[in-house]
Amino acid sequence: MGAVRAAQLGFKVACIDRDKLGGVCLNWGCIPSKALLHGAEIYDEAVNHGKEWGINVGDVTVDWRAFIGRSRKITEQLNGGVGFLFKKNCVEHIQGHAHITSGNNGVTPCTVEVRTPTGEYYNGNGGDVIETVTADRVLIATGAKPRELPFAPCDGKTILQSSHAMTLEERPESLVIIGSGAIGMEFAYVYNAFGTKVTIIEMLDRIVPLEDEDISKLAGRVFKKQGMDIHTSASVNAIEANENGATVTFTKNDNESKVEAQKVLVAIGVGPRCDGLFDDSLGMELHRGYIKTDAKDVEEPTYRTSVSGVYAIGDIIGPPLLAHVASEEAVTCVERMAGHNTFGVDYKSIPGCTYTNPQIASIGMTEQQVKDAGIEYIKGEYSLKAHGKAIAVGAAEGVVKLLASKPYGEILGAHIIGHDASELIAEIGLAIRLEATIEDIVSTMHPHPTMAESIHEAALGTENRMIHN
Ligand SMILES: Cc1cc2nc3c(=O)[nH]c(=O)nc-3n(C[C@H](O)[C@H](O)[C@H](O)COP(=O)(O)OP(=O)(O)OC[C@H]3O[C@@H](n4cnc5c(N)ncnc54)[C@H](O)[C@@H]3O)c2cc1C
Repeated sequence: MGAVRAAQLGFKVACIDRDKLGGVCLNWGCIPSKALLHGAEIYDEAVNHGKEWGINVGDVTVDWRAFIGRSRKITEQLNGGVGFLFKKNCVEHIQGHAHITSGNNGVTPCTVEVRTPTGEYYNGNGGDVIETVTADRVLIATGAKPRELPFAPCDGKTILQSSHAMTLEERPESLVIIGSGAIGMEFAYVYNAFGTKVTIIEMLDRIVPLEDEDISKLAGRVFKKQGMDIHTSASVNAIEANENGATVTFTKNDNESKVEAQKVLVAIGVGPRCDGLFDDSLGMELHRGYIKTDAKDVEEPTYRTSVSGVYAIGDIIGPPLLAHVASEEAVTCVERMAGHNTFGVDYKSIPGCTYTNPQIASIGMTEQQVKDAGIEYIKGEYSLKAHGKAIAVGAAEGVVKLLASKPYGEILGAHIIGHDASELIAEIGLAIRLEATIEDIVSTMHPHPTMAESIHEAALGTENRMIHN
């Protein structure tokens, strides 16, 4: 995104990547995972709920390789799309591992060595120098890599990280997932939908723990009802591989338990990815391992690092670790390089979504954060149980929760679990961006019948004016 926008702005641009174009999002993250999730939903809907629709599907078989293959084909199609955009915008693509050796000191430009990419997708320092590139400015967007448990490194066979779980040759009969954030829950949904016995072990006291507490609680109930075995406040102490898979030992309330599974997915988050990225002599300033920029310190960040001429955006500068944040930061960064007065990223209104069924989406402050900040607030909570469109499409499980400040109704946060939540949250993003109030949402006509009407009802709920409740 940054490369294309920079080229549009008239910069001469080269993009160095050690692997396929499109980064994690396109190759191993957002896009292929959504393809798998959609497939799982189709299966779940037809096999487990078909009868409710009067649709008897009979014996259904799943061609697992074709299912996985489709998601891989999509990434290839999109790789090609990025290549096309590069050509169209005259962005030079250099394949190799980038190693920055100097910044721009006002006399000499930044220097980047391009090395042979060694190691596997997420790890590797780079080997021999293939060529050396110089530029007035360098923008780092090297992203993040999955964190591993120190006592049980991923082997790709039994102990997996997300990229392995996305390409298994066969569906396991049982799967333990360690961590219940968005990535853990999305894989939980996919495998559980197809009949894998899924056990989730979460260290914190609720699943999707970054979400509003009410949403987490409902998510816990819904996913348990779908058949997942969920252990919260539980920490994994050991994973021992054996001929059938692995034994996972965890402690909960001082009691030790064991669970057997064919595969174990470690989904405990991601960390900075800067192996072999820069010379120590640069003195690149880091914060908790992530590259430090001015992103969170000033109102209009330039994304400069501590090294002159070197900028950084996306996962490599730290949370929130989301593709849309990385894209917006990249565009903002290069537009500001070009001297544009771009609006930039509003870090207070970043939507986050989990694409399970039901989906989970949120933006702004949770109720606890509002309380902790001592803000007086109003709240509207609308259950989808009585919502026409939700009932029509067989998705009446969920809730929309809106938080707004007193006395003017400034929107502080929105938290949704339910059908199409990831689409609904965009309305609230725009509302926050426009500094709209609850009254603005109330007075906006929402088409009928839509899931969007649930936002309208929740807004009415902040003033005790809900109709369908
Ligand atoms: C399973 C999964 C699902 C996800 N789902 C979502 C989602 O639904 N929505 C969402 O917003 N986010 C999602 N994410 C997160 C999202 O993928 C990241 O936030 C996003 O990709 C970050 O973009 P980035 O440009 O910072 O880095 P990345 O996309 O990680 O790209 C980094 C690129 O840098 C290259 N690179 C690294 N080091 C070097 C080097 N030294 N030299 C040359 N090249 C190098 C890599 O090859 C890679 O292409 C998901 C992540 C995972 C793992």
